[in-house]
Amino acid sequence: MDIPLKQKKKFLIQHLISSGYLKTKKVIQAFEEIPRENFVPHDYHDHAYADEPLPIGGGQTISAPHMVAVMTELLEPKKTDEVLEVGAGSGYQAAILSKLVKKVFTIEFDKNIAKRAELNLCSTGINNVEIMTGDGSKGYEKQAPFDKTIVTCACQEIPRALIVQLKEGGRIVIPVGGQWYQELVLGVKKKGRLETSMHGGCVFVPLRH
Ligand code: SAH
Repeated sequence: MDIPLKQKKKFLIQHLISSGYLKTKKVIQAFEEIPRENFVPHDYHDHAYADEPLPIGGGQTISAPHMVAVMTELLEPKKTDEVLEVGAGSGYQAAILSKLVKKVFTIEFDKNIAKRAELNLCSTGINNVEIMTGDGSKGYEKQAPFDKTIVTCACQEIPRALIVQLKEGGRIVIPVGGQWYQELVLGVKKKGRLETSMHGGCVFVPLRH
């Protein structure tokens, strides 16, 4: 007999908590509230609560739930935050953040992917996420500065525009490294400069220009 999605979701969240990826009550609640199946292609619905990245078309992927958990916890999201995301992908990470912050601005390079993300967010009833298409490494001047920035594609270095557009005391979480392997970096802006710390290895699709 097939295990119902609801049960699979419960098991996944328990796993993320016991493995130490999910730590904060409100972040756990956001994971409970957002249906990941709304953000994966129909053929993968059954796998929506496996702790794995899944294809979303155009050679791109929705990140594994543990990676979304780690990045969300590192951001320390607050209800007053305005957040910039680079790499909307499926819209799932933005959806999780939407429950924890005031507003998410997310930039997606691929027009078709952006359209689908918008549909996914809309069908989930989320209305505090704004999606734009473009090269997110330039940031989003119009709405800057941001309290938090999250980058969900691999960068060789932290794009300068993203540091400039971050508020003093703001946090950025970003995978930095080569094409096949990156280090998850947390930067906290102090006196105009980033204080960085490393938070483990990861593999993201590369930032495109
Ligand atoms: N956060 C996503 C996963 C993103 S996958 C989720 O929750 O599903 C990485 C995404 O970054 C891809 O969709 C890719 O098209 C996008 N991307 C790559 N380069 C980019 C750029 N320069 N600006 C904005 N998006 C970019």
